[in-house]
Amino acid sequence: MALTICVLGSGSSGNSTYVGTEATGVLVDAGLSARETLRRVEAAGLSTSRLSAVLVTHEHGDHTAGLSVLHRRHKLSLYANSGTIDNYVKAKNREEVADSLKWNVFQTGAPFELGDLRVDPFSVPHDALDPVGFIFTCQSIKIGVVTDMGMATTLIRERLRHCRVLVVEANHDLHMLKNSGRPWSLIQRILSRQGHLSNEALADMLGEIGHTGMTDVFLAHLSRDCNDPALAEKHVRKALDKQGHSHIRLHLTYPDKPSFTVQVD
Ligand SMILES: [Zn+2]
Ligand SMILES: [Zn+2]
Repeated sequence: MALTICVLGSGSSGNSTYVGTEATGVLVDAGLSARETLRRVEAAGLSTSRLSAVLVTHEHGDHTAGLSVLHRRHKLSLYANSGTIDNYVKAKNREEVADSLKWNVFQTGAPFELGDLRVDPFSVPHDALDPVGFIFTCQSIKIGVVTDMGMATTLIRERLRHCRVLVVEANHDLHMLKNSGRPWSLIQRILSRQGHLSNEALADMLGEIGHTGMTDVFLAHLSRDCNDPALAEKHVRKALDKQGHSHIRLHLTYPDKPSFTVQVD
């Protein structure tokens, strides 16, 4: 059994990641339009016919913009916890679609089965109502997907520690963010425990949790203004190499096109 993973789009303009087996395909988040999401699934050489569900990490628009059309027009099932659903429905202009959405409600910390995938949602710190990351398990293969986290908590490190492949946030370079000219209040929000993860913090976490069985790491949710892909890669590469994890491949992700597709078996 093989697991396939591809980050279809990433960044503040829209996030969506494909995770699938031969039988089951799911999306983590639907921050691109429905049409663009499906176009990118095909552009990545993956099958849209296998797609059955969208799993939502949190209610922010860059993770939910295409969700309602994917559900109503393309019949994908929706999975989220009740905090995410409540805040999604409360958000402006969504009242009219809220009634037409049928949700599968999971509880943070309670694993569930979706086809031949086991899905384990776990808590992450971010300025949303009950945001989560996911571990996907198929047979003995584990993949971790966690973006939008203000800090790499002990729980996050523990959950990601045994994964073969990770999609993780490398949001900003600390120096670039502090010198970005953005309002100080916004900079403070991004830097807070409920904000986004820096290249430096990610490098620190990966240096610690990297292991011989980890093969690939996707760097996701890169800020266009406050990060540089080469810099993000450099920070993480250095930390991995220093800890003897030079075998781990790094993949960039993009706002406007799918990433490299990784298949593990
Ligand atoms: Zn967010
Ligand atoms: Zn986001």
